[in-house]
Amino acid sequence: MSQMSMHSLNDALENARLTYEQHVRTCRQCHADGAACAVAKHLLRIYNNARRDRMRSGGQHTTMDHQG
Ligand SMILES: [Zn+2]
Repeated sequence: MSQMSMHSLNDALENARLTYEQHVRTCRQCHADGAACAVAKHLLRIYNNARRDRMRSGGQHTTMDHQG
C-alpha cells in the first residue's frame, strides 16, 4: 500500500473535522460558554493544520502563511 498521499491527507482532514464537530456538539463547556473551550481549540488547530497540509499538497494557491 503505497498510495497514502492524497487519500490519507483527506482522511486526516475529515477525521479532524469530525472530531472537532463531535466535540463541540457534545462538550458541555463549549455550550455553556458559547465559545470554543481549550480542547475545542486544540482540535480546531489540528483541523487547520490538516487543511493547510492538504492545500500545500494541492498547491494551487500560493498564498503566504503570514497575513498580519
Ligand atoms: Zn469543548
